[in-house]
Order: sequence, then structure tokens, then C-alpha cells
Amino acid sequence: MEVLEAYSLRNHNTFGLDISADFYLSLNSLDDIVSYCQDSELSNLPFCVLGGGSNVIFANDFHGLVLHVNLKGKEIVAETENHVELKVAAGENWHQTVLYAVAQGWWGVENLSLIPGTVGAAPIQNIGAYGVEICDVFKELEAVEISTGNTFVFEKKACEFAYRESVFKNKLAEQYIITSVTLQLAKQTNPILSYSELERNLQEYESEKLTPKIISDAVCNIRQSKLPDPEKIGNAGSFFKNPIVNESFFQSLQDSYPELRYFKIESEGGSKKEGEQNHQYKLAAAWLIDQCGWKGASLGGVGVYEKQALVLVNRADAKPDEVLQLAENIRQSVRNKFGVELEREPVLVKLESTASQI
Ligand SMILES: Cc1cc2nc3c(=O)[nH]c(=O)nc-3n(C[C@H](O)[C@H](O)[C@H](O)COP(=O)(O)OP(=O)(O)OC[C@H]3O[C@@H](n4cnc5c(N)ncnc54)[C@H](O)[C@@H]3O)c2cc1C
Repeated sequence: MEVLEAYSLRNHNTFGLDISADFYLSLNSLDDIVSYCQDSELSNLPFCVLGGGSNVIFANDFHGLVLHVNLKGKEIVAETENHVELKVAAGENWHQTVLYAVAQGWWGVENLSLIPGTVGAAPIQNIGAYGVEICDVFKELEAVEISTGNTFVFEKKACEFAYRESVFKNKLAEQYIITSVTLQLAKQTNPILSYSELERNLQEYESEKLTPKIISDAVCNIRQSKLPDPEKIGNAGSFFKNPIVNESFFQSLQDSYPELRYFKIESEGGSKKEGEQNHQYKLAAAWLIDQCGWKGASLGGVGVYEKQALVLVNRADAKPDEVLQLAENIRQSVRNKFGVELEREPVLVKLESTASQI
């Protein structure tokens, strides 16, 4: 294990922020992780775990140790007539893993094509797109507890998955390094076309003619038409979550803004009384931001993407302060106009607390 010093993170965050870490360590095996956990000097440094850097915003240079998870490999660990269980190391690229599953004709992750980042980070925020979340195909994950170096298995329930959330973003944040994820994929045809834009794109196919590859290609085409490629223009994907509001708030908002964009979701939990409606509504954050006039706006080197108001982009050597200030300005104007609180989606990495709010 070689600890590098004064290491540039410019190529390790898809926003392309020009920041550096005091120390950097690439973790290439389980042994590396255990050695790190048992090294009294290294394990005493403030740290941050990093995968592909596509869902993080560094608030400034990181005066601690960046642990870059680079474990590779995948294997089939169980197989039946209907299912296959694929165990994938945390450092594998997510999209390449999707392409591998798609090439085998296995169903389950095709709607999650082209999401940047690593397999190990995917459960952290329960990645989702086009009507599917990783929790839908999740079997279990393995993770090393940083304080002991011991490996634990987390089954689905223990991960407490929710919309862009899991236990690893909340009460277990910064306590574990995920080393592998096992996906349960289906061998039988099972297209998920609940997302209307995807369904429209695939109208020409009878549903029994669909394959994971056809759906994956359609998802890639849709994504490429509206999301900036981080290789060409720095960004961290959606900068805000779609806010979830209750029925009465939603009704009053819709009365004022009949053209409001939203998705209706069923509430979880058993608080519903007989005959009572108990829905929640996911508001389209992009629409709210767009209505406040932000699309295309800039602040210093950072801007709001012209084709998708939910995405902040690095137009010219953006600084972390500019990113955070523009995000705060957007939050304020959405709060003032709609009374809705936007929550940041990428993790803000700063030494005091990586999970703090803007
Ligand atoms: C263009 C673009 C499009 C995107 N589209 C989507 C989308 O459609 N849906 C969606 O859900 N997300 C999307 N994202 C966000 C992002 O791709 C995902 O959240 C992805 O899972 C992050 O992976 P990563 O390896 O880059 O994680 P990083 O950004 O490196 O890390 C994210 C968090 O996970 C932690 N972490 C990373 N690896 C590990 C590990 N092995 N063990 C423990 N903790 C770890 C980090 O400490 C950090 O808190 C998009 C991002 C971009 C840039």
C-alpha cells in the first residue's frame, strides 16, 4: 500500500473541481482494506471513502486521507432456472456491470444503464432511474467495518433503502467500506416501462420481443439527449432530489400552479384510516427550478445546464464556493416561490462532517 501525498482529485470527481487531498490511498484488495483499518497511524487520519466521484462535491481541499475503493472482479454465486445471483466487487464500474448483465440477457438493471460511478457506491444512495432502483434487484452486500476491520453481510432489509437513501447515508455513514454487492437478476422477460418517456421510445416493440439490450439502448439514448456527459462537461448528475410532499400541501400548490409536474406515490406505513386518501407526491425539482428562471444561469465558473435545470455544470474552472453558493441561491428562490425545501443529492465532503447540509 502506497500512501500518496498532496494528491490532485481533479480526475476523481466528475464535477472536475480542482481540489487535492493531503493523503490518498488506493484500496485494491480486501487485504488492503484490513491493513488500513489496523494501521494505527493511517486509521487515525480524518478520511473519506471515494468511488468514481460522481456523487460528491468537495467543499475545499481535503486535509485528510482519501480512500479510493478499487476492488475488481465479478462472479456468479447462485443460479436457478429463473434467476442468477451476480456478486460484483465494489470498484467495478456500474455501467460496465449493467452492460455485462444485458449481454447475458439477464433482466433487472437495464433501466439503470449509463449511471456513472462504481458498484460499491450504488447502494449508498439506492441509485434509481426510469422506474427502477437498485433495491429492486439487490440481494446483499459485504462491507468492512472501519473501526474493527471485520467484514459484515448486509441483506436488503438492513440497508434501509428509500428514495436516494440507505442506512449508509444515515446512521451508518462513514462506518463501513462496501467491498461487494450481490444482485439478483431475472432470466425471464420482465420489462419495466412505467416511465412514460421510456415506454414511448419503445412503442414499436411488442412487449415479448423486448430484450434487456433494447431497453438499455433506449435508456442510453434518452439519457444522452438530456444529461451532460461528465467526460465533456463536469457535473454530478441531479443536484437536488425530487421533493416529496403530502396530499394537502400538494393540493394547495396545484391550485396555484395547475401545470405543476409531479408523480403520485403511495405512502408507506399503516397510518391510513379506512376511506382516507394517503398519497404522497414527488414534485419534479427540475420544473420548480426552471419556473424560478434558473435554466442556463451562471455564477462564476458554475452554471445551470441549459437542457436540464436539475443539473449544475462546471463551465470554466468552477470553485467549490461557487457551486455551493449557486445551489443555495436556487434553494432560496424555490423556497420563496413555492414554499418547497430542496435537498441536495450529492454528498458534500468537508472535514467537519461529510453529511452536513449546504
Ligand atoms: C451525469 C450523471 C448522471 C447521474 N445519474 C444518476 C441517476 O440517474 N440515478 C442516480 O441514482 N444517481 C445518478 N447519478 C449520481 C451517481 O452516479 C451515483 O450516485 C453513483 O452511485 C455514485 O457512484 P460513485 O462511485 O461515483 O460514488 P462517489 O461519488 O465516489 O461516492 C458517493 C458516496 O458514496 C460513498 N462511497 C463510495 N464508494 C463507497 C464504498 N465502496 N463503500 C462505502 N462508501 C462508499 C462515498 O463516501 C460518498 O459518500 C448521476 C451522476 C452523474 C454525474
